[in-house]
This record gives sequence, C-alpha cells and structure tokens, in this order.
Amino acid sequence: MAGRGGQAIILLGPPGAGKGTQAQRLIETRGMVQLSTGDMLRAAVRAGTPVGLEAKAIMERGELVPDAIVSGLIDEALSRTPESVGVIFDGYPRTVAQAESLDRLLEAHGRSLARVIELEVDEETLIDRIAGRFSCAQCGAGYHDRHKRPRVAGVCDVCGGTEFRRRPDDNALTVRTRMAEYRAKTAPILPHYDERGIVARVDGMAAMEDVAQEIAALLPV
Ligand code: AMP
Repeated sequence: MAGRGGQAIILLGPPGAGKGTQAQRLIETRGMVQLSTGDMLRAAVRAGTPVGLEAKAIMERGELVPDAIVSGLIDEALSRTPESVGVIFDGYPRTVAQAESLDRLLEAHGRSLARVIELEVDEETLIDRIAGRFSCAQCGAGYHDRHKRPRVAGVCDVCGGTEFRRRPDDNALTVRTRMAEYRAKTAPILPHYDERGIVARVDGMAAMEDVAQEIAALLPV
C-alpha cells in the first residue's frame, strides 16, 4: 500500500471540466505531480518526436490517440517519478483498455489508486469555458477571455511573460468531438472503478475554490 506521499488519484471529466486547474491546486497544496497525457502529447508534437508526428492530426480532430502510445507515456512518467511522490492522472485513462493498462502499471510501479474523482459538468457551459481559454507560453498559467484575464492586459500574473498561446483543438467543433469521445469511450470506465468503491463525484460547475475544498476532503490525509 502506498503511503501518504505515494497516493495516486485520477481526475476524470470531459474537456474543460477543470481537471488541470484542480491538479494545479493539488500540486501546490500536497506536492503531488500531475501526469497529463494531453500535456505529454503536446510536448511530443512540439518536439516533433515519432509519437508527436503520429498524434498531431488525431489531436487536431479531437479524437483519441492509440491506447498503447498513451500508456507508454504514462509508464515512462511513472518510472521518472519517485515512489514517495503522489501522482494525479489527468486525462488518463480515457478508455477501458487504458484503465486496464493503468492497473498493471500501478502494480508494476508499487502504487495503489486512492480515489477516482469525477467532475460533473454541463456540456454547453464547458464549450464556452474551453473556447475562451489560453495560457502563458512561458509558465503555462491558465487564463480565459471572459472569466480570468491577466491583471495587466498582455502580461502573465505569475511570471510576467508576455507571450500567450491557445490550443489548436480548443475550438467549438473539435470540442464537440472531444465531448462525444468522452461520453462514448471514457465515461464507460467508471464502472471499472465503481466496483471498488473508490469513485467520488464532485460538482464541477461550483466555484473553483469550492471544488478544490471538496476534492481535498475526499483525499486521505
Ligand atoms: P487533453 O489535454 O487531456 O484534453 O487532451 C488533448 C488531446 O490529446 C485529446 O483530445 C486526445 O486527442 C489526446 N489525448 C490526451 N490524453 C489521451 C488519452 N489518455 N488517450 C487518448 N488520447 C489522448
């Protein structure tokens, strides 16, 4: 059984549900690390690696990249992360096959899953959230055209950077495909974890702070 530091949790929810934001909170408050397959794939695309070349067009369409690729990325990431450090899976697993791979990977890396937290949200509101989001190109801090603009226009609150970027898949059409993929392929993994009694459902439409508090209350101390 993993100790306090080594706990593993999954944040589950459709794109824009706030998984990344909540993961950031857990990094700050608990010293956990975030393992986001989306971030890893975007880095691979930027670096032009073989994985990146294969994933690029699939991601632009909002479809899912093959299970073996993302499970391989997670395996590598777990190998790099000291066992005592807690991990947050963000955007992984996304299919039943990935959930099964994750079981094997966790066992191989001597970890156990403490919680699966599902952020429940309203899809139309999410499309609005996603379509306006952007981030600092330097430190990755997240912003939104309407809900969270930098305090000084064009300057990152966190690092002072002045360059920002938008994800090419954050447009309404691709977002709808990503939502459909979530409903068809990702939501069906919940029974896999429900059986073990480790799933908790949190209202992802609540204020960011309230969501963070609810998640904190669900995690082992
Ligand atoms: P995300 O940042 O989690 O929204 O992921 C962005 C895109 O990367 C997705 O729309 C997929 O194309 C791809 N992706 C990320 N994680 C996975 C995964 N676990 N399985 C398959 N595709 C993924």
